[in-house]
Amino acid sequence: MKRRADEDNWTSAQILSEALPFIQRHAGKTIVIKFGGNAMGSETLTQQFANDVVLLRQCGLRPVVVHGGGPQIGSMLDRLKIKSEFVDGLRVSDMETVGVAEMVLSGAINKSIVAAINQAGGQGVGLSGRDANLILAEAVNKDLGFTGRPVSVDPSVIHALTDAESGFIPVISPISGSADGTRYNVNADTAAGVIAGALNAARLMLLTDIEGVMDSEKNLLTDLSTKDAQALIENGTAKGGMIPKLGTAIDAIEQGVEAVVILDGRRAHGLLVELFTDVGAGTLIK
Ligand code: ADP
Ligand code: MG
Repeated sequence: MKRRADEDNWTSAQILSEALPFIQRHAGKTIVIKFGGNAMGSETLTQQFANDVVLLRQCGLRPVVVHGGGPQIGSMLDRLKIKSEFVDGLRVSDMETVGVAEMVLSGAINKSIVAAINQAGGQGVGLSGRDANLILAEAVNKDLGFTGRPVSVDPSVIHALTDAESGFIPVISPISGSADGTRYNVNADTAAGVIAGALNAARLMLLTDIEGVMDSEKNLLTDLSTKDAQALIENGTAKGGMIPKLGTAIDAIEQGVEAVVILDGRRAHGLLVELFTDVGAGTLIK
């Protein structure tokens, strides 16, 4: 190993030092991070995401990960030759579809994120909305089948993990149960929002496959009020998967979350830019 630092090494040290006030500002705070199905396109991206999450934990923040898996559910449904459709960004789930969704979300995807966190030296613990009654759900409406919406959240299992000395990192699949044991496929943005609300999180970060929220001319909107967000839904500028994201942002802020950020999960270290520098990434809603 060479002993003599070059300019890049000095720059790295400088950057670390500049992060100090930000690390101090966020220490102890709960940050809920939703990792989108589309953003976790590759193993490399998932590993970079996991490294950033472990870094946040190491810096004294309490990261809580909630994940989606739309594209992965879609390809499993295709392989099994099960048809499924979307209405306003929400998947229509019959009995077979919700079974596949649970298998993919609470099984394969949840464990791969936990493994990536553990690989990065953290202590990931996989959960779903069904564990310890974290999220109780009910049907959104009859037409959407077993597509559910949260009716209550009990965050005690999350507190038990994040408050523990060893600093576990909860990784949550949005599949949730009802009081009678029926399972529901809850949109992952919605699940992340109610969890952030119940935890009184400082930030809810929604990582997705686009830079942030775009206006009708496809320019990035860097700052939005909840009113602006509502208008984007109502005037049709937000379509498909962006509708539940903005709805979630509005609800989370009403429940006391300080700010919501919608940012690009395809680019490494967006979480760190947002939290540890004085500029932002993506769209800030508050
Ligand atoms: P995720 O897996 O991250 O939840 P979604 O596909 O559900 O991803 O939602 C993100 C998508 O929302 C974007 O890729 C984009 O195609 C779509 N979208 C619709 N309207 C907008 C908008 N106004 N600004 C940004 N993205 C939008
Ligand atoms: Mg989505």
